[in-house]
Amino acid sequence: MNSHLIPSRLGRPKTDPIFGLARLAAERRAAGHPVIDATIGVLLDDEGKLALLETATRALREVDPAEAASYAPIAGTPAFLEAVKHDLFADFPQLAARAVTVATPGGTGALRHAITSLLDEKQAVLTTSFYWAPYGTLADENGRALRTFPMFDGAGRFDTAALAAALDKLLAEQGRAAVILNDPCHNPTGYSMSEDDWRRTAAALADASARGPVSLVLDLAYAVFSEGGVARPLAALAPISDRVLTLFCWSASKTFLQYGQRVGALAAVATDPSEQAELAATFAFASRGTWSNCNHGGLEAVTRLLTDPAMRAAVAAERRGVVDLLARRVAEWNRLAPGLGLRYPPYAGGFFVTVSCDDPQAAAAALRDKDVFVVPVAGALRVALCSVPLGQVERLARAMADVLAAPDRAGAAP
Ligand code: PLP
Repeated sequence: MNSHLIPSRLGRPKTDPIFGLARLAAERRAAGHPVIDATIGVLLDDEGKLALLETATRALREVDPAEAASYAPIAGTPAFLEAVKHDLFADFPQLAARAVTVATPGGTGALRHAITSLLDEKQAVLTTSFYWAPYGTLADENGRALRTFPMFDGAGRFDTAALAAALDKLLAEQGRAAVILNDPCHNPTGYSMSEDDWRRTAAALADASARGPVSLVLDLAYAVFSEGGVARPLAALAPISDRVLTLFCWSASKTFLQYGQRVGALAAVATDPSEQAELAATFAFASRGTWSNCNHGGLEAVTRLLTDPAMRAAVAAERRGVVDLLARRVAEWNRLAPGLGLRYPPYAGGFFVTVSCDDPQAAAAALRDKDVFVVPVAGALRVALCSVPLGQVERLARAMADVLAAPDRAGAAP
């Protein structure tokens, strides 16, 4: 019998690969095995419980029930949009003045609107060779493609020459280009671009923009886990924002450890007032045509967390606690992993580190036999240190070293 599903919807994966592995890990743990689960990108404390920011919990509890129950405006509440704009651009008023902002269900929603608004059907969005797998899902589900450029060159530097070449090729093929970069604290490598990386990236984008419309979509999911936050990319992007459309995907998921609220925003900085008006209308229309309104209670709570001075200060102090918790794991990893022969890009922080590996599927399977769960990605294993208690980091690193020491598994330096 012919399927009722259209051909492009046949053969979709039966489970999300990451959530599938996490379920397997949970089942193994329930059966009494000493499982290390480094699959899921949520921050767990050293007792293995979900880390929460107390003030964020309180902000949610104190939302007016009638407000939470009612529809939010389709583009988001004005107070939320202003608060996000301020959070992103407090030190860059010239960008804030030109920013068009829309509320989205998490950073995922922001990425979705960017991909569908900046590229035509069948066109490809460009990103780094290591990337968060849902970029591909978002492109595919929305009839777009995903193309990558090598993230690091032979010397282990962010490869802006490869970015420039890929931009040229895409512009020649499709007349426009859009690039997604996830920085700082890139998922899955944990790499944060240096000032020099950003200077060279901005130059490549500006140069390419002479040959057609070029957009940069900056995914800021983990920005609060870096020292400098968004300042470094903004300093590099501000001078080119008259030629390159710069868009920022903001998310409350990691910012307030409130993944389930599904609160995020897309901010686009455009120069021309008529383009600003077009962007605002396009984003609101796209919202109406997908999820309609966002979670009103979530928007209210997040607005308070961003704007109430006492709450903002309290949540920042609580967040410093979890940033330190993660930093201790990163330090332990960096102390052990190089000496064990594990190869990975410079890792200064963030939820994940990515270890080079020639046969990631086989290595991940061998690790599972040792009750260690990591995510195989192209050419590497993604390790979610965010969910591994400090006391387990050593066993994790040693298990990985054992498995990767097997012939043909070590991989080249990324
Ligand atoms: N971007 C990256 C790189 C992520 O890892 C995530 C979540 O894991 C997101 C975006 C979006 O998350 P959310 O939709 O919860 O904001």
